[in-house]
Amino acid sequence: MQTNMIDKLVSFGYGILNSGMDPAKSHEENKSVQRLIIFIFFGILVNLISVLMNLLHGLYISILINLTSVILLSVCYFLNKDGKREFARGLGILTINLYLFAISYAEGLRAGEHLYYFPFLLALIFVIDIRKNYKELILTSTVTFFTAALVFIVAPYVSSVQTINPEQYSALFSSNLSLSLVITAGFTYYVLKTLEINEEKLLDETRFKDTVYDTSLDSVFIVDSRSMEITGCNKKAVEVFGLSDKEEITGMPVKQLLGGEMEEHIAVQGRQQFTKQSPWYGNMDFVRKDEAPFFAYVNIVPFSHREYSFCKISILDITEIKIAEFEILKAKEKAEKAVQIKSRFLSNMSHELRTPLNAIIGTTNIVLQEDYLPSQRKSFEILKYSSEHMMQLVNDILDFSKIEAGKMVLNRAPFNIKDFLQKIISPFAAPVSEKNLELRMHADDQTNLEIIGDEMRLIQVMNNLIANAIKFTEKGSVTVEVKPVAIRSEEAEIRFSVQDTGIGIAENKMRQIFESFMQADIETTRKFGGTGLGLAISKRLVEQMGGNLKAQSEVGSGSTFYFTLKFKVTTRRRSYVSEENLKGLSSLDGVKVLLAEDNPINMMVAKRFLEKWNIEIIEAENGLKAVELFYRHQPDLLLIDLEMPEMDGAQAVAEIRKTHPFIPIMAFTAATYDNIKEDLLSKGFNGYLPKPFKPEELHKKIEESVAQQRLHEHRKAS
Ligand code: ADP
Repeated sequence: MQTNMIDKLVSFGYGILNSGMDPAKSHEENKSVQRLIIFIFFGILVNLISVLMNLLHGLYISILINLTSVILLSVCYFLNKDGKREFARGLGILTINLYLFAISYAEGLRAGEHLYYFPFLLALIFVIDIRKNYKELILTSTVTFFTAALVFIVAPYVSSVQTINPEQYSALFSSNLSLSLVITAGFTYYVLKTLEINEEKLLDETRFKDTVYDTSLDSVFIVDSRSMEITGCNKKAVEVFGLSDKEEITGMPVKQLLGGEMEEHIAVQGRQQFTKQSPWYGNMDFVRKDEAPFFAYVNIVPFSHREYSFCKISILDITEIKIAEFEILKAKEKAEKAVQIKSRFLSNMSHELRTPLNAIIGTTNIVLQEDYLPSQRKSFEILKYSSEHMMQLVNDILDFSKIEAGKMVLNRAPFNIKDFLQKIISPFAAPVSEKNLELRMHADDQTNLEIIGDEMRLIQVMNNLIANAIKFTEKGSVTVEVKPVAIRSEEAEIRFSVQDTGIGIAENKMRQIFESFMQADIETTRKFGGTGLGLAISKRLVEQMGGNLKAQSEVGSGSTFYFTLKFKVTTRRRSYVSEENLKGLSSLDGVKVLLAEDNPINMMVAKRFLEKWNIEIIEAENGLKAVELFYRHQPDLLLIDLEMPEMDGAQAVAEIRKTHPFIPIMAFTAATYDNIKEDLLSKGFNGYLPKPFKPEELHKKIEESVAQQRLHEHRKAS
């Protein structure tokens, strides 16, 4: 019951103390509301104590004055509660001033009421926030001093309005003195405590700022924008610039330490501070005290403090980052150079390898067409297979390095899908029947289209997939399917797939088979051979064409490799040379061809075929000879190797073109490089025939060129 009462009293007290507080306002503001309430209640308490004293002595005018003060202070309380804090404070201070004046007058100075001016002056510091309302404090203190002075002038020593005997005076004086002393002591304690707390707070704040400032990664300088002098810096600045301490640079002209460019930026930023533009960021060079230069990222922020304008300059040393960047750049250049050298080396090497390989393949073909001892057949076949395999290897490595170097340029020319299918299937007729497999072809009629793309590279991908399917299938079938996904008038989306019933690929090997030089397992290499490059090349080629080569497989059941590509559909028809006609390889009697070739074996191989077709051959072993023989024999066509001693192919062509701009000249070469066709055309060749050549292609080119040449001459004559 008793505790309940106490609880109620305490919460009532808190209620009064917290009245007028607003949770939306800051802690500081609410604190000053609370202080005003304490001030008001202190005043009321002193008034009520005085009323009791006055009752004791029968001083009714004093009671009246005290009660008036209580009423006015209560009004202040309610004003404060209503949020009219400023008004309440003003009225409170005025009330106490009037009260002290009135009571001193009514009781006379002898009663000692004026002694309350001491605690009242201290209470002003308590009520008015000295940091925010400095002027108000000065004003109210002055007014209070003034009324105190007035009290001493106007108030009588002994009251003229009430009768107070000497004993009463002495009792009143003692009680007023003791009460005012107690209140003074209370407020003095409070003021000292507040000062201590404020100082601690200030110190804490400074310590916090110093910690932030001194532990920052960048060097920070504060520069007075008007005098252009450094007014302070952090520890890092001392460290980075190699100085002995902060004092060394305080007052130093900014130009002396940070250079003229910095001074200009500060001048601009100092002006911008008033237009509130964004801070300046950028890179600058600086020099340390020991003359060592360094590179930095700089940020200049203008700000004002106590009506002075400053700039905060943050300097982050990025020399190491710059060096690393430079090293990376150098390494990149080096790597690019290495790739170029590698690419050139591979190209040169492949050329070097292709020339003798071409000779080996050609010679083997000739021998296989001619008479040989039956016991030699197997050896020749091994020779043919091995040399062709080696040629494939050289081509694969060349292709792969080209793709890796990003130099694989796809051709864009119209081709017919039906013809394309024929081309991808026909080379596999023999190996399929050898292994007793079934080669199925599913082609939709709708795919009989003419599209634009790189036929040769698409053939390369499909050949690789079909060759793999045959290689890894012992029994069953290989199915090649070409299916339209979407065909529109201008665009066709076609799905290509090769399915087999072979050994299949384990799930965990699916990803690595598309990587270069990767085979599903080591056994595969032993059993089936191969380089592990085919799928890597195919995948990249398909990607370059805009598709994605994927595989599905089950060990023991077989695999399916598939991809989808989009092509532009063309209505332009090419004049296709019928495959049947090609196989006839008719006699080209009466045709005169100049053959320039420095390699005797290559010369022999080419001659062997030309002779078969009854062509008259003029042989030249270098460019110089070719030019000379051309003028002497006037051939219908020239087949010219590119690299020859004395005078190379291109120089010889340039010579001949001076007088004969229309004579057909074919480059006959084992070299391959980017844009070879364009390059040869620009050098005056009409086309080129890559070595090792396909006899039917050589035949076709000769036939076409001669026909064109004759047509041209006929037109010229008529
Ligand atoms: P290569 O055939 O020259 O070894 P590829 O890149 O063409 O190189 O193929 C990589 C590997 O993928 C092969 O060694 C083989 O293990 C696996 N592989 C490719 N195609 C098939 C297939 N149709 N069936 C089973 N395994 C295959």
